Amino acid sequence: MATTKTDAISEALKQLTYLAAALKAPRITEFAARLADHACDAGWSHEEYLVAILDREVAARNAYGAQLRIRAAGFPARKSLEEFDWDAQPAACQPIAALASGSFLTEARNVVLLGPPGTGKTHLATGLGIAAAGHGHRVLFATATDWVTRLTEAHRAGRLPAELARLRRYALIIVDEVGYLPFEQDAANLFFQLVSSRYEHASLILTSNLLFSGWRGVFGDQAVAAAMIDRVVHHAEVLTLKGASYRLRNRGIDTLPSIRTQDTAD
Ligand code: ADP
Ligand code: MG
Repeated sequence: MATTKTDAISEALKQLTYLAAALKAPRITEFAARLADHACDAGWSHEEYLVAILDREVAARNAYGAQLRIRAAGFPARKSLEEFDWDAQPAACQPIAALASGSFLTEARNVVLLGPPGTGKTHLATGLGIAAAGHGHRVLFATATDWVTRLTEAHRAGRLPAELARLRRYALIIVDEVGYLPFEQDAANLFFQLVSSRYEHASLILTSNLLFSGWRGVFGDQAVAAAMIDRVVHHAEVLTLKGASYRLRNRGIDTLPSIRTQDTAD
């Protein structure tokens, strides 16, 4: 009798292994085995046992999906919000914590991070991007110059509208280093189209070492700059980071005088 029961269990486990593989969820077999004794001891119902197994499978899938989305995003380095030293930017702590929940993405709001070099703009933009990927959103990261290059290529190939439509499927696009290099008129127009195509549809995070007043010089044309800033900030959190470069902390150097200009976001 005992042997028959053991045989039945081992047959069921074999079937479970086959079925879990067919569902492309091989971990289910492992979760089922791992939770079986606990389920017995705790007197779980069949439903509770099934929920516990599926819950672990969903969590594992989400974590795997987040890793894929993070890899696909093209971050220059993996910098999480957990690694950020808030003592260096105390005023940013609460607003960034609110943004990390990801609700700005469902509302297609933007985030603008301004501040001098080394104050953590790229780090925070990446951290918010990683958090967004964790919430199931697709993210793409590139510098402003790289975005312009990509859009120029699409434009030359006659597929700019298709490219902008494709990019709208990403809940978050991060444009790092707006203002490090000025744009040619054509580039400024392409960048404006990117901003316009996402306006009230999907989010942008922009970082810049220039205040908005300095963006006019970057985009050449005052009208293009004004129209773009208008769309970016209409639904946006604008955070201005302050202080000395984190890269140069404890080195006895406060700022880099050579890259200070009138309109920098110090
Ligand atoms: P920015 O983009 O403003 O020039 P980064 O985000 O690239 O600055 O920061 C420069 C370096 O210093 C990065 O390695 C970043 O991780 C680190 N860093 C900057 N601020 C902080 C901070 N508050 N806590 C931890 N690391 C920081
Ligand atoms: Mg940076």
